[in-house]
Amino acid sequence: MAIYNPKSLKAEEFINHEEILDTIRYAEENKHNLALIDEILAKARPVKSADGTQTHCAGLSHRDASVLLACDIPEKVAEMYELAEEIKQAFYGNRIVMFAPLYLSNYCVNGCVYCPYHMKNKHIARIKLSQEEIKREVIALQDMGHKRLAIEAGEDPVNNPIEYILESIKTIYSIHHKNGDIRRVNVNIAATTVENYRKLKEAGIGTYILFQETYNKKSYLELHPTGPKHDYDYHTEAMDRAMEGGIDDVGLGVLFGLEGYQYEFAGLMMHAEHLEAVHGVGPHTISVPRVKHADDIDPDAFDNGLADDIFEKIAACIRIAVPYTGMIISTRESQEVREKMLQLGVSQISGASRTSVGGYCEEERPHDSEQFDVSDQRSLDEVVDWLMQLGFIPSFCTACYREGRTGDRFMSLCKNGQILNCCHPNALMTLTEYLVDYASEETKKHGFELIEKELEKIPKEKVREIARKNIEDIKASNRRDFRF
Ligand code: SF4
Ligand code: SF4
Repeated sequence: MAIYNPKSLKAEEFINHEEILDTIRYAEENKHNLALIDEILAKARPVKSADGTQTHCAGLSHRDASVLLACDIPEKVAEMYELAEEIKQAFYGNRIVMFAPLYLSNYCVNGCVYCPYHMKNKHIARIKLSQEEIKREVIALQDMGHKRLAIEAGEDPVNNPIEYILESIKTIYSIHHKNGDIRRVNVNIAATTVENYRKLKEAGIGTYILFQETYNKKSYLELHPTGPKHDYDYHTEAMDRAMEGGIDDVGLGVLFGLEGYQYEFAGLMMHAEHLEAVHGVGPHTISVPRVKHADDIDPDAFDNGLADDIFEKIAACIRIAVPYTGMIISTRESQEVREKMLQLGVSQISGASRTSVGGYCEEERPHDSEQFDVSDQRSLDEVVDWLMQLGFIPSFCTACYREGRTGDRFMSLCKNGQILNCCHPNALMTLTEYLVDYASEETKKHGFELIEKELEKIPKEKVREIARKNIEDIKASNRRDFRF
């Protein structure tokens, strides 16, 4: 039997089945243990340094975090939600980073039973974008105002080899349309070799994202019956290879609904601990998708569907347990669910997403090559305005990546409390770009009012003055891409 070891590079040792079962048992036994729950909550609270300039959060182990997730005492759950909000405020403020997915190709040789791109689906339209078509999609995305993309492609060594992905990244970065630019390309492609990860790094990718789908090996093997993705160990150890290849921002995620959520949550936390233990830096982001309806896919066929209140509790517990990791929610979720999740710790959302290949160039939302149904179908302008009405600052910032602040350098920015002097002005400057170049009159009006108020929150006078001057410059000229 494999022994749990977060420092091991073997999947079955760092995501250890017995340890997860023990954790779930321990969490069940202690879910009403008030003394322990209070102790865990106290451990997770943000602490200010003696001079008040820095805030630190210790985070939680997978065991402690699982106890919080199991706890169903209403007052304690309310306390958890408050704490999640407090941590979010401390490290992310009221900024929400915006991005859009870009589907390059839905050719896929895998057999994932929850995804309509699985190889046996013969009636879905298979499309692979040419470089010309990618150009058109990117221009459409730039014309909406997007600066940050996550590219997606099925696994298919013949149709989507690494060379195709690399060429596509190059194309995306090369397009400068009007004042538009894609400044950060995150990549969501199948588990691959160290050598290919190195190539992706050299191509200038931001985060490498790979969802585990489920951490339960037995379920994983059943849900991925055919294709290279069937290899659980190779898939689970992918982030270690990515880091070995020089990528230090990696994004984890599970597809909630495939397995029991307690199992997935413990697995996610163990994976984060493993990355920290081996590479000295935890995951850059965690995504929290739920199984959705799609061509050929009925979410009711999966009996682990997740109710909204549990989903929210998971978000709060992730926020508390891994305070320095960004949390992403997509347009799979409705406006209502997204609104609640934003309060609890989500720091990045997609807007105006099209989950079909080539979807951004079409007038109407196409469905024939979609990966999943989109619940939130609003335009980017509507999403930006909605966020601002809720008191958030939609941010198009990509400064860290462009300044080489990745991995632990990004984490130290977070940990050194420089967010108000760095992320905050960057958010305001990139929001100004968006408002001037792409927003409707109504959104512009709300945005400029918000920016005026938010500028006052920048603590350092010098930074505040520079940000104000840059904002005036953006309004008055075509100068763009200011950053701290
Ligand atoms: S989830 Fe990914 S690997 Fe699986 S069938 Fe869909 S596109 Fe292919
Ligand atoms: S400065 Fe860095 S951490 Fe802050 S919002 Fe921009 S990219 Fe993110």
